[in-house]
Amino acid sequence: ANKIAVFSHKAPDGDCLGSGTGLYYFLTSKGKEVDLYCDDEIHENFKFLAKDLYNSNLKENATYDLLISVDCSDLSRLGKFETFFDSFENTICIDHHLTNNNFAKINIVDSEKSSACELIYTFITTFEEINDINLATSLYCGIATDTGCFIHNNTKQSTHIIAGKLISLGIDLEYVHYYLFKRKTIIDLKLMQETLKNLEFYNENKIAITYITQKILKKYNLSDSIHIGMVNTITYLEESEVGVSMVEQSDNSFRISFRTKGNVDVSKVALKFGGGGHRMAAGCKIFGKLHTVVKKIVDAISEEL
Ligand code: 5GP
Ligand code: MN
Repeated sequence: ANKIAVFSHKAPDGDCLGSGTGLYYFLTSKGKEVDLYCDDEIHENFKFLAKDLYNSNLKENATYDLLISVDCSDLSRLGKFETFFDSFENTICIDHHLTNNNFAKINIVDSEKSSACELIYTFITTFEEINDINLATSLYCGIATDTGCFIHNNTKQSTHIIAGKLISLGIDLEYVHYYLFKRKTIIDLKLMQETLKNLEFYNENKIAITYITQKILKKYNLSDSIHIGMVNTITYLEESEVGVSMVEQSDNSFRISFRTKGNVDVSKVALKFGGGGHRMAAGCKIFGKLHTVVKKIVDAISEEL
């Protein structure tokens, strides 16, 4: 394949973006022509990583020999590129989600890996050593994001060893960590305030749920694809087992994030609603009014508690 398109998932995170740019630097170094696609805005915090490499619409008259999806457990994660990808013959899916449904012609899926970036690292280093700083930074960003900066339980000795090898190439860690984990805007803090105001508890406090409505998004001029980032905080509460955050979308649905301390497999909960993810972090989309959706979620989690 000479002309290759790589697709990241909606509501892009450091792992799907780092996987995309990582493949971009690797494949272009082999003389391939590569286009990156993502059907969503890229958050300011990831702009240093994504640079201006991503396209949000298919390029006119673009033809490809191969399409690759990264960090996507099912086709719907590709958003508006779903049909294009599905109708293509030569496709590869590179992913690490437990719930991956092998939607491509070739599926490179390993749920033992912390991140799609760690899987891509393993793949590339089968052939050659990595020494490009852009490639190293891309893969490091995905590994660091998906492990919550090396604190989630998908962090293994091997994860640290790989991260260490990438760091040894000279990644500017202070800069990268600022954008990935520390930088907050005033709007981010106001959103945190709103999520704390809307915090609700169910099932003897074992389930903590918070939400952001369209009204709040409009108030701060924010798009549907924002990451509110409070779901981990409410899951770490001593009293809760499962944390849920919901962002109301403009199509009368909610985009839902699930996290757990570990006793509940939230990928099972997300699958009940057609979503997916990992045991400790998963997501889905549910149509309906706020309190109907909350009830559905509480019932689905309660069955697993
Ligand atoms: P987050 O809550 O950070 O958006 O997502 C947590 C995990 O669940 C990620 O691995 C993400 O890819 C997955 N996930 C989130 N939303 C969905 C969804 O609607 N469908 C599927 N299949 N996975 C999702
Ligand atoms: Mn990932």
